[in-house]
Amino acid sequence: MTMDNCIFCKISQKKIPSTIVYEDEEMLAFKDINPIDKVHFLIIPREHIVNLMECNLDHQDILSKMLLLAPKLAKEFGLKGFRTMINSGKEGGQEVFHIHFHVYGGSEKLAKL
Ligand code: AMP
Ligand code: ZN
Repeated sequence: MTMDNCIFCKISQKKIPSTIVYEDEEMLAFKDINPIDKVHFLIIPREHIVNLMECNLDHQDILSKMLLLAPKLAKEFGLKGFRTMINSGKEGGQEVFHIHFHVYGGSEKLAKL
C-alpha cells in the first residue's frame, strides 16, 4: 500500500511536511514545492502507484476521482482554467515515482515543464 522510501507516501502519512489543500481516505492534494505557475498543486492517491504505465481497470475509480478533484480545487483557488499534466516514466519526465497529477494555472502565459 505504501513504500518506505517514497517521498509522496511520506507526505500522505504526514511524516514530512507539505501544504495540503485537500485530503480524504483515498487521496490528497498538496502544493508543489517548486511551482511553475501562480497556482500549482499535485493530486496523489494514498496508495503507492508508480505511474500510469502501471495502471489498469482496477485503478479506474481512484483515477477518475483524482481527475475530478482537479477542477473542484482549481475553482476553489479562483482559476478560470488550468492545465493538467501527468508525467509517466523516466522518459516521460517523471521524477517522483508515485503517481501524481500536476494541476496549474493562474498566469497569463501558461508554463510548460
Ligand atoms: P514529476 O517530474 O512529474 O515527477 O514532478 C515531481 C514534482 O514533485 C515536481 O514538480 C516537484 O517540484 C514536486 N515535489 C518534489 N518533492 C516535493 C515535496 N516534498 N513537496 C511538494 N512537491 C514536491
Ligand atoms: Zn509512494
